[in-house]
Amino acid sequence: MKQYSATIGGKPVSGADAFVVANPSTGAEAGRAPNLGQADLDAAVAAANAAFPSWSAKSDEQLQAACAAVTEKIQQHAEELAEIITLEQGKPLNGLGSRWEMGGAAAWAGYTTGLSLPVKVLQDNEQGRLELHRKPVGVVGSITPWNFPVMIAIWHVMPALRTGNTVVIKPSPHTPLSTLRLVEIINEVLPPGVVNVVTGDDKAFNLGAAMSAHPGIRKIVFTGSCGTGQKIMQSAASTMKRLTLEMGGNDAAIVLPDADPQAIAEGLFWGAFINNGQTCAAMKRLYVHESIHDAVCDALVAFARNIPVGDGMNESSILGPIQNRMQFDKVSRLVADAAKRGKVLLGGQAGKGLFYPPTIVSGLSNGDPLVDEEQFGPALPVIAYSNVEDAIAMANDSENGLGGSVWSSDIEAAKKVAGRMQCGSVWINKHGAIQPNAPFGGVKASGLGVEFGEEGLEEYTDIQVIFS
Ligand code: NAD
Repeated sequence: MKQYSATIGGKPVSGADAFVVANPSTGAEAGRAPNLGQADLDAAVAAANAAFPSWSAKSDEQLQAACAAVTEKIQQHAEELAEIITLEQGKPLNGLGSRWEMGGAAAWAGYTTGLSLPVKVLQDNEQGRLELHRKPVGVVGSITPWNFPVMIAIWHVMPALRTGNTVVIKPSPHTPLSTLRLVEIINEVLPPGVVNVVTGDDKAFNLGAAMSAHPGIRKIVFTGSCGTGQKIMQSAASTMKRLTLEMGGNDAAIVLPDADPQAIAEGLFWGAFINNGQTCAAMKRLYVHESIHDAVCDALVAFARNIPVGDGMNESSILGPIQNRMQFDKVSRLVADAAKRGKVLLGGQAGKGLFYPPTIVSGLSNGDPLVDEEQFGPALPVIAYSNVEDAIAMANDSENGLGGSVWSSDIEAAKKVAGRMQCGSVWINKHGAIQPNAPFGGVKASGLGVEFGEEGLEEYTDIQVIFS
């Protein structure tokens, strides 16, 4: 199987040691990634710092042209990268799988290329002229999770590059291969050291922890779990790093009594089960008015029953396996526990290897671990409510606040409920619909800062005011 290389200062680096990445569909080896340590990280940070003066001195037009070239590379290699994602992550090539992820990566790269942060004149009168400039922060350390390895890498790398920063990226040890290849590809059109990638297995040495304490890195952008985000925040304090933290969610959906169960079933399904529920802003709790509870459950189960689950490389698979054993065990444990009190309407029995079917459980309430914990898997608890005030209170009864949704035939009524949900994004009659021009981020324990749009771009800059 293929040995992938890190890229440091534009050069391939194999390291003394490598770790095996398993294909979740088969358990076979998908490839090997370098198991790097402190010295390699220091070299990557030094390369990014060395590249910074000339990269940050480029004009806005030059940065835009360079980002356009990166976008083109991503488009050219989309199919190759999609196959690597499927091999290491497990998601199918088809459906909302790895080809879809690559489509998103290219769309975000292209949109970010087109953004800019021109100088703002805040005042220009006899008292003087006041200009607000956006300056790159320096070296950005990007730490990514295993659920959307290339798309999230692009979410971090492109705004950093577009605003004149240089980057050291570190993917999850579960899915390092696609990022290693991505960085190799984009280095073909970038000066050496502008984007570097390091990988490690997080066993003897934790590269992400070392990055968040590293004095040569000025900002960390992180997507991953709440616990890890909190550790990053603590360790970043000593060097006053800028932080963008996109962390876990436990998104609630509220179905109002006037919703049409048949019409919303497909949207509810994909809101919950996209990427097997291993999606930060997937629907994790479904609150349905008691008058249509059974009809919604029936329509959802009928839709879910026909989704083909299988090896991601098989063109007919629409959902794949759970990505890793730890995640699989967590979902299995939570569903087995929920089955003691609730009613398993679909799924609930583990398949071969890491396969787990879409699972729907009714009869639960807040306080049940399947409802309260971010289970990050293909299981959806459905909770009946009788009063919309109760539904809003239950939806908000969470430490997390990433996304939420409201389902109704009356958009204005839905918007009123949406405004009362404590989360960064609320969707009406859909769930998890992110796009590059919509700032995305969490409230409460779900994160700090936003990604996407101009507001997301600003997070890669420091403000300088020039008063003349
Ligand atoms: P994780 O926190 O375990 O790992 C994420 C990354 O952090 C990995 O690269 C890992 O190697 C690294 N890491 C581990 N320990 C670290 C440390 N001490 N310091 C710095 N970095 C460290 O998360 P995961 O299991 O890969 O991903 C699943 C989680 O990510 C879920 O909670 C999910 O909700 C969240 N997520 C959030 C978003 C979002 O945009 N909000 C998107 C995707 C995933």
